[in-house]
Amino acid sequence: MRKKIVAGNWKMNTTLADGVKLATDVNNLAEKNPTKTIVIVAPPFTHLSEIAKLLTKVHLSAQNCASESSGAYTGEVSVGMIKSAGAGYVIIGHSERRTYFREDNEALFKKTELALDLNLVPIFCCGEVLSEREACVHFDIVKKQLDETIFKFDKVRFSKLVVAYEPVWAIGTGVNATPEQAQEMHKYIRELIRGKYDLQTAENTTILYGGSCKPSNAGDLFKNNDVDGGLIGGASLNAADFMAIVKSIP
Ligand code: PEP
Repeated sequence: MRKKIVAGNWKMNTTLADGVKLATDVNNLAEKNPTKTIVIVAPPFTHLSEIAKLLTKVHLSAQNCASESSGAYTGEVSVGMIKSAGAGYVIIGHSERRTYFREDNEALFKKTELALDLNLVPIFCCGEVLSEREACVHFDIVKKQLDETIFKFDKVRFSKLVVAYEPVWAIGTGVNATPEQAQEMHKYIRELIRGKYDLQTAENTTILYGGSCKPSNAGDLFKNNDVDGGLIGGASLNAADFMAIVKSIP
Protein backbone atom coordinates (compact mmCIF):
# COMPACT_ATOMS: atom_id res chain seq x y z
CA MET A 1 0.00 0.00 0.00
CA ARG A 2 1.40 3.38 -1.04
CA LYS A 3 2.04 5.65 1.95
CA LYS A 4 1.68 9.42 2.27
CA ILE A 5 4.79 10.96 3.77
CA VAL A 6 5.99 14.46 4.60
CA ALA A 7 9.63 14.65 5.69
CA GLY A 8 11.48 17.73 6.91
CA ASN A 9 15.13 18.01 5.97
CA TRP A 10 16.66 20.47 8.41
CA LYS A 11 20.04 20.43 6.65
CA MET A 12 22.87 22.06 8.66
CA ASN A 13 20.56 24.17 10.80
CA THR A 14 19.76 24.38 14.53
CA THR A 15 21.90 23.94 17.61
CA LEU A 16 21.01 20.93 19.74
CA ALA A 17 18.78 23.08 21.97
CA ASP A 18 17.04 24.69 18.99
CA GLY A 19 16.59 21.30 17.35
CA VAL A 20 15.04 19.76 20.47
CA LYS A 21 12.65 22.71 20.65
CA LEU A 22 11.69 22.42 16.98
CA ALA A 23 11.17 18.66 17.21
CA THR A 24 9.08 19.12 20.37
CA ASP A 25 6.91 21.72 18.63
CA VAL A 26 6.43 19.49 15.56
CA ASN A 27 5.61 16.51 17.75
CA ASN A 28 3.11 18.51 19.84
CA LEU A 29 1.34 19.70 16.71
CA ALA A 30 1.30 16.14 15.37
CA GLU A 31 -0.25 14.94 18.63
CA LYS A 32 -2.98 17.58 18.38
CA ASN A 33 -3.68 16.90 14.69
CA PRO A 34 -3.85 13.15 14.16
CA THR A 35 -3.17 12.16 10.55
CA LYS A 36 -2.53 9.02 8.54
CA THR A 37 0.37 10.81 6.86
CA ILE A 38 3.77 9.67 8.09
CA VAL A 39 5.53 12.75 9.45
CA ILE A 40 9.33 12.61 9.55
CA VAL A 41 11.99 15.03 10.76
CA ALA A 42 15.62 14.78 9.61
CA PRO A 43 17.80 16.79 12.01
CA PRO A 44 21.60 16.86 11.98
CA PHE A 45 23.36 13.68 13.20
CA THR A 46 24.31 15.29 16.51
CA HIS A 47 20.65 15.71 17.46
CA LEU A 48 19.31 12.28 16.55
CA SER A 49 19.52 10.44 19.86
CA GLU A 50 18.12 13.36 21.91
CA ILE A 51 15.26 13.91 19.51
CA ALA A 52 14.53 10.17 19.29
CA LYS A 53 13.69 10.25 23.01
CA LEU A 54 10.98 12.89 22.69
CA LEU A 55 9.13 11.89 19.51
CA THR A 56 5.81 10.09 19.93
CA LYS A 57 3.94 10.86 16.67
CA VAL A 58 6.80 11.81 14.40
CA HIS A 59 9.42 9.58 12.80
CA LEU A 60 13.14 10.25 12.68
CA SER A 61 15.53 10.30 9.73
CA ALA A 62 19.20 11.02 9.18
CA GLN A 63 20.19 13.28 6.28
CA ASN A 64 22.98 11.07 4.99
CA CYS A 65 25.03 7.98 5.85
CA ALA A 66 28.47 6.61 5.07
CA SER A 67 29.06 4.29 2.12
CA GLU A 68 31.05 1.92 4.36
CA SER A 69 29.71 0.11 7.41
CA SER A 70 32.59 0.86 9.82
CA GLY A 71 36.33 1.48 10.03
CA ALA A 72 38.91 4.19 9.45
CA TYR A 73 36.70 6.81 7.80
CA THR A 74 37.20 9.87 9.97
CA GLY A 75 34.13 12.02 10.29
CA GLU A 76 31.74 9.57 8.66
CA VAL A 77 28.54 8.27 10.27
CA SER A 78 27.48 4.70 9.57
CA VAL A 79 24.01 3.25 9.13
CA GLY A 80 24.58 1.25 12.32
CA MET A 81 25.24 4.46 14.26
CA ILE A 82 22.13 6.06 12.79
CA LYS A 83 19.97 3.08 13.62
CA SER A 84 21.34 2.86 17.16
CA ALA A 85 20.59 6.57 17.64
CA GLY A 86 16.91 5.82 17.01
CA ALA A 87 16.31 6.80 13.38
CA GLY A 88 14.22 4.67 11.05
CA TYR A 89 14.89 6.55 7.81
CA VAL A 90 17.86 8.03 5.99
CA ILE A 91 17.93 10.54 3.13
CA ILE A 92 20.32 9.38 0.42
CA GLY A 93 21.47 11.21 -2.71
CA HIS A 94 20.29 14.70 -1.85
CA SER A 95 21.52 17.04 -4.58
CA GLU A 96 23.59 18.98 -2.04
CA ARG A 97 25.47 15.73 -1.26
CA ARG A 98 25.87 14.96 -4.97
CA THR A 99 27.10 18.47 -5.78
CA TYR A 100 29.16 19.64 -2.78
CA PHE A 101 30.49 16.27 -1.67
CA ARG A 102 30.83 14.67 -5.09
CA GLU A 103 28.68 11.67 -4.23
CA ASP A 104 28.29 9.56 -7.34
CA ASN A 105 25.78 6.87 -8.21
CA GLU A 106 28.16 4.11 -7.17
CA ALA A 107 28.54 5.53 -3.65
CA LEU A 108 24.79 6.19 -3.43
CA PHE A 109 24.05 2.60 -4.38
CA LYS A 110 26.37 1.38 -1.60
CA LYS A 111 24.76 3.70 0.95
CA THR A 112 21.28 2.54 -0.02
CA GLU A 113 22.31 -1.10 0.16
CA LEU A 114 23.79 -0.64 3.65
CA ALA A 115 20.65 1.17 4.84
CA LEU A 116 18.39 -1.59 3.51
CA ASP A 117 20.59 -4.22 5.16
CA LEU A 118 19.75 -2.65 8.53
CA ASN A 119 16.07 -2.05 7.76
CA LEU A 120 16.54 1.70 7.62
CA VAL A 121 14.18 3.15 5.02
CA PRO A 122 16.14 5.10 2.40
CA ILE A 123 14.52 8.27 1.07
CA PHE A 124 16.34 8.25 -2.24
CA CYS A 125 16.59 11.59 -4.06
CA CYS A 126 16.83 12.16 -7.79
CA GLY A 127 16.37 15.19 -10.00
CA GLU A 128 17.80 17.28 -12.79
CA VAL A 129 19.57 20.64 -12.78
CA LEU A 130 18.15 23.63 -14.65
CA SER A 131 20.35 23.30 -17.74
CA GLU A 132 19.22 19.69 -18.10
CA ARG A 133 15.56 20.68 -17.95
CA GLU A 134 16.17 23.50 -20.40
CA ALA A 135 17.86 21.03 -22.74
CA CYS A 136 14.85 18.72 -22.35
CA VAL A 137 16.96 15.84 -21.05
CA HIS A 138 15.42 15.81 -17.55
CA PHE A 139 13.65 12.49 -18.08
CA ASP A 140 16.87 10.87 -19.33
CA ILE A 141 18.83 12.27 -16.37
CA VAL A 142 16.39 10.95 -13.78
CA LYS A 143 16.23 7.56 -15.54
CA LYS A 144 20.03 7.30 -15.48
CA GLN A 145 20.15 8.24 -11.79
CA LEU A 146 17.65 5.48 -11.00
CA ASP A 147 19.12 2.89 -13.39
CA GLU A 148 22.56 3.26 -11.81
CA THR A 149 21.31 3.07 -8.21
CA ILE A 150 18.01 1.83 -6.83
CA PHE A 151 16.92 -0.02 -9.99
CA LYS A 152 19.80 -2.41 -9.33
CA PHE A 153 17.85 -3.86 -6.40
CA ASP A 154 15.48 -6.75 -6.75
CA LYS A 155 11.77 -6.12 -6.29
CA VAL A 156 11.69 -7.06 -2.62
CA ARG A 157 14.45 -4.66 -1.70
CA PHE A 158 13.20 -1.90 -3.98
CA SER A 159 9.77 -2.04 -2.41
CA LYS A 160 11.23 -0.99 0.95
CA LEU A 161 12.44 2.41 -0.17
CA VAL A 162 10.92 5.83 -0.77
CA VAL A 163 11.76 7.92 -3.86
CA ALA A 164 12.00 11.72 -3.72
CA TYR A 165 11.94 13.71 -6.95
CA GLU A 166 13.75 16.96 -6.27
CA PRO A 167 14.42 19.15 -9.29
CA VAL A 168 17.66 20.82 -8.26
CA TRP A 169 16.58 24.17 -9.72
CA ALA A 170 13.69 24.22 -7.24
CA ILE A 171 15.66 23.42 -4.09
CA GLY A 172 16.02 26.44 -1.83
CA THR A 173 15.32 28.81 -4.71
CA GLY A 174 11.72 29.73 -3.93
CA VAL A 175 10.79 28.51 -7.42
CA ASN A 176 8.86 25.28 -7.11
CA ALA A 177 8.06 22.93 -9.94
CA THR A 178 4.53 23.55 -11.13
CA PRO A 179 2.03 20.90 -10.07
CA GLU A 180 1.96 19.79 -13.74
CA GLN A 181 5.75 19.48 -13.93
CA ALA A 182 5.82 17.50 -10.68
CA GLN A 183 3.00 15.18 -11.75
CA GLU A 184 4.60 14.63 -15.17
CA MET A 185 7.90 13.51 -13.66
CA HIS A 186 6.31 11.46 -10.87
CA LYS A 187 4.16 9.65 -13.43
CA TYR A 188 7.24 9.03 -15.53
CA ILE A 189 9.13 7.61 -12.52
CA ARG A 190 6.18 5.37 -11.69
CA GLU A 191 6.11 4.13 -15.29
CA LEU A 192 9.83 3.37 -15.08
CA ILE A 193 9.21 1.37 -11.90
CA ARG A 194 6.40 -0.50 -13.64
CA GLY A 195 8.68 -1.31 -16.57
CA LYS A 196 11.52 -2.41 -14.33
CA TYR A 197 9.43 -4.37 -11.80
CA ASP A 198 5.65 -4.57 -12.17
CA LEU A 199 2.43 -2.61 -11.82
CA GLN A 200 1.90 -3.49 -8.18
CA THR A 201 5.38 -2.35 -7.20
CA ALA A 202 4.88 0.89 -9.14
CA GLU A 203 1.53 1.56 -7.50
CA ASN A 204 2.93 0.85 -4.04
CA THR A 205 6.01 3.09 -4.30
CA THR A 206 5.83 6.37 -2.41
CA ILE A 207 7.23 9.20 -4.54
CA LEU A 208 7.77 12.52 -2.75
CA TYR A 209 8.20 15.93 -4.32
CA GLY A 210 10.89 18.30 -2.99
CA GLY A 211 11.80 21.84 -3.99
CA SER A 212 10.48 25.08 -2.44
CA CYS A 213 7.37 23.36 -1.16
CA LYS A 214 5.55 25.61 1.32
CA PRO A 215 2.07 25.94 2.84
CA SER A 216 0.89 28.09 -0.07
CA ASN A 217 1.74 25.58 -2.82
CA ALA A 218 1.67 22.20 -1.03
CA GLY A 219 -2.04 21.58 -1.62
CA ASP A 220 -1.75 22.03 -5.40
CA LEU A 221 1.35 19.84 -5.56
CA PHE A 222 -0.07 17.07 -3.35
CA LYS A 223 -3.41 16.75 -5.11
CA ASN A 224 -1.71 15.11 -8.08
CA ASN A 225 -2.25 11.35 -8.35
CA ASP A 226 1.41 10.46 -8.41
CA VAL A 227 2.66 12.89 -5.76
CA ASP A 228 2.55 11.08 -2.43
CA GLY A 229 3.91 13.82 -0.20
CA GLY A 230 6.95 16.00 0.15
CA LEU A 231 10.55 16.35 1.20
CA ILE A 232 10.64 19.80 2.72
CA GLY A 233 13.75 21.91 3.33
CA GLY A 234 13.39 25.54 4.41
CA ALA A 235 9.73 25.34 5.45
CA SER A 236 10.47 22.43 7.80
CA LEU A 237 12.41 24.79 10.11
CA ASN A 238 9.14 26.35 11.23
CA ALA A 239 6.88 23.89 13.05
CA ALA A 240 3.62 25.62 12.08
CA ASP A 241 4.57 25.86 8.40
CA PHE A 242 5.75 22.27 8.34
CA MET A 243 2.55 20.99 9.90
CA ALA A 244 0.48 23.17 7.54
CA ILE A 245 2.23 21.32 4.71
CA VAL A 246 1.43 17.99 6.39
CA LYS A 247 -2.23 19.04 6.59
CA SER A 248 -2.24 19.80 2.84
CA ILE A 249 -2.06 16.09 2.07
CA PRO A 250 -5.52 15.14 0.75
C1 PEP B 1 15.46 19.96 0.15
O1 PEP B 1 16.53 20.39 0.53
O2 PEP B 1 15.27 18.72 0.08
C2 PEP B 1 14.43 20.90 -0.22
C3 PEP B 1 13.39 20.48 -0.87
O3 PEP B 1 14.65 22.22 0.13
P1 PEP B 1 13.62 23.45 0.00
O4 PEP B 1 12.27 22.95 0.45
O5 PEP B 1 14.16 24.49 0.90
O6 PEP B 1 13.61 23.83 -1.43
